[in-house]
Amino acid sequence: MMQERIWLRNGVVIDGSGAPGVPGDILLEGDRIAAVGSFPHPAEARTIDCTGLTVSPGFLDVHSHSDLQVLENLPEKTLQGVTTEVVGNCGFSPYPVAADLKPLHEFANGIFRGDDRWGWATASDYLNDVARSARQATVHSLTGHGTLRIAHAGNQQGPLPESTLDAMERGLDEALSGGSCGFSTGLMYAPGSSAPFEELLRLCKVVARRGKVYATHMRSYGNALVEAVEEQLKLARESGCRLQISHFQAAGRRNWHQQAAALDLVDQARAEGVDVAFDCYPYVAGSTVLTQFLPQWTLDGGSAALMARLTDPAQRARIARETVEPMAHDFSDIYISSVGGAANQHVVGTNLQQIAEARGCAPIDAMIDLLVEENAVVNMISFNQSDDNLRQTLTHPASIIISDGFYVKGRPHPRLHGTFPLWLGEMCRNRKWISLPEAVHKITGRPAARFGMSGRGLLLPGYAADVTVFDAGQVMSPATYDRPEVAPVGIRHVFRNGGELQ
Ligand SMILES: [Zn+2]
Repeated sequence: MMQERIWLRNGVVIDGSGAPGVPGDILLEGDRIAAVGSFPHPAEARTIDCTGLTVSPGFLDVHSHSDLQVLENLPEKTLQGVTTEVVGNCGFSPYPVAADLKPLHEFANGIFRGDDRWGWATASDYLNDVARSARQATVHSLTGHGTLRIAHAGNQQGPLPESTLDAMERGLDEALSGGSCGFSTGLMYAPGSSAPFEELLRLCKVVARRGKVYATHMRSYGNALVEAVEEQLKLARESGCRLQISHFQAAGRRNWHQQAAALDLVDQARAEGVDVAFDCYPYVAGSTVLTQFLPQWTLDGGSAALMARLTDPAQRARIARETVEPMAHDFSDIYISSVGGAANQHVVGTNLQQIAEARGCAPIDAMIDLLVEENAVVNMISFNQSDDNLRQTLTHPASIIISDGFYVKGRPHPRLHGTFPLWLGEMCRNRKWISLPEAVHKITGRPAARFGMSGRGLLLPGYAADVTVFDAGQVMSPATYDRPEVAPVGIRHVFRNGGELQ
C-alpha cells in the first residue's frame, strides 16, 4: 500500500536550524519528511495550501510536568504546536516506585495533579505505557532524583548510607538504560533538597557514563542564586555530565541584580568547554507549591511533620520569622492558584496581601493559616522577574524556551496553555526581541540537539514528519493570569509522525 502523502504548498519554510525562511514546499510521506524546497507535483498527495503561512518543525517542550497527562491525550500542548515533550523534570518522575506509594504521592501530586494510584516500577514500564497511549506528543522522560530517593530511602533527610547510595546508582543506571533520557534534580523540594553534593556527584557520574542529560532545578533562584549556579557547574566539571539548568532566573525583586553575575558564570564555564546550557519560560511569573517559601527544615518528614510544626505556637513563630526575613518578594506578588479543600476556593486568584487584608491579619499569618487549613495542599503563582532580566535569558545564545507547565485543580499558570504562541507572537513579533528563525530554532532544532534526539527538530528529508504550520502575523496566546485557559490563535496545522493532530 502506498503511504499517505501530504503536500504543504507555498509556505515560508523555516527549517529549525536558525537559517532564514525561504518560500517552498514540504512533502510528507508516511511518518517521514520526503522532500523540502521545490520539487515536481507529487502524485496522489493531499494538498494543503500554506500561502501566507510559516511551515516549521513541530515544537519541542523539553521542560514539561505533564508526566501523567500525556497518557490522557489532553489538547493543551498540541494547540500550541508542540509535538515532543520531555517530562520528569525538577526531580519528579512517576518511576521508580517502592511498595509504599504514599510518600511519593505526597511529594509529587502538587505538580502532577495525581491521585493515589499512579506509579511505575521502572522507566521502561512507564515508557511502554506512553508508547501505547500517548498520541499527541512524542514523550521523553528524565528520571527524577526526588522520586528515586523516595524509592530507596522514603522521606529520610540528609546523607544516606553507602548501601542506599549504591542502590540509587544502580536504580538510575537501570532507568537510563531502560530509555530514560536523563536525570533531573529538584533541590528546593524535600527530600531531594537535603541531598549533599557527594550524593549528586555520584549520580551525575552515572549520567555522564551513559552520555545523557542532567537537568536541575537548583537549590536557589533567589538569595543564593550565584552559589547555586556554582554548585551545579562544579557537578558538571567533576562528573563530566551535560548540564541543563532549568528555568533560569533571578526570583524576587531584591535578587534581580544577581542575574547578570549568575549568567557570567555560565558564560565563563561555556568558554572553558563545560557543556552547560539552560532553559526559561517567557513569563515574569512562576508557579509551584506554596510551601516553597517556607524554610527547608520545616519540610523534613513530609506533610504530617510540617502540620505539627505549623500548629505548634513556638515553632510557628520561628517559621514566620524565618520565612519573612529572607523573602525577596512582596506578598502582593504571590497569588493563590489552587487549594485542596472547598472552604477556601474564593481565595484562588487573589494574592496574600489581599487575603491578609480580608482576614485582618499579617500576610505571613494569612499564608501560614491557609497552609494549615488546607493541609499544606496549596499552589501559587508568584511574580518573580523583571522584563529586562527575562529578555536577557530568553535571547541568550545558550537558552531554550520551555513551558514548565503543570496542571492544577484550580487556576493554572497561563504558560500551560500559551508558552509557544506567546513566545512567537509577543516576544518575537510584537517586542522584536529576536528574529523569527532564531525564535523557532529555540523551540525546535536547539532543544532536539540538546537532548540528543536524532531525526527530529529540523525540516530535512528523512526526518520525522513533525510539522507545525502557523500564521506568523497572527500567532498569539490570549491567555492571562485571570483567564489562563483561553486557547492560542494562529496555529493552523500540527502534524506528528505524519498524522494531523487536533
Ligand atoms: Zn522546577
